[in-house]
Amino acid sequence: MEIKSLEEYNNKIKKIIITAEEIHKEIDRAADYINSLYDGTPILLVSILKGAFLFMADVCRRVAVPCEIGFMCAKSYYNSTVSTGEVKLTMDIEQDISRYHVVIIEDIVDTGRTLSEVVKLLKKRMPVSLTVVTLLDKPSRRAVDFEPDMSLFTIPDEFVVGYGLDCGEFFRNLPYIAVYGE
Ligand code: 5GP
Repeated sequence: MEIKSLEEYNNKIKKIIITAEEIHKEIDRAADYINSLYDGTPILLVSILKGAFLFMADVCRRVAVPCEIGFMCAKSYYNSTVSTGEVKLTMDIEQDISRYHVVIIEDIVDTGRTLSEVVKLLKKRMPVSLTVVTLLDKPSRRAVDFEPDMSLFTIPDEFVVGYGLDCGEFFRNLPYIAVYGE
């Protein structure tokens, strides 16, 4: 994506639908959920790059159980607002997860294909347990049978950016979630 001016950039941010304050309040709820689920047992937080990088940073700072972190990179959107339906792992975690309680920290469930594939793959490695926490959920777009254990916000069928989510690699640094439009 080519952005020629700040005005052009700002014009693509159509409407803030979740403020930074709302995000942080819900992140406390996610951390409470993880803390109560594991109650002091060590866990491995696995984040799917790049969209979940801010969510992971904020969740892991509020988690009160001993935790390791790991990163995977799964690509499903290729510089566009339309899913190709294809999921490709371009980076894997280094930990042998067979001795871990694993918590996946994801940005958004849309068609569900990415998480459904990642969960399938990780389950084959026999983790002690596997839990999925996502920031956003677009249930109306689901194309496969997949539900996260916890999602913080349910949103309508709109393409959103901010708080880690991009369009053409821009907008990830916005502190809020906004609807994107040309
Ligand atoms: P799924 O495989 O569930 O269709 O899509 C998951 C991935 O698609 C997410 O991790 C995210 O990278 C991307 N995605 C889905 N919906 C949106 C959206 O509204 N905005 C952005 N920026 N990415 C999205």
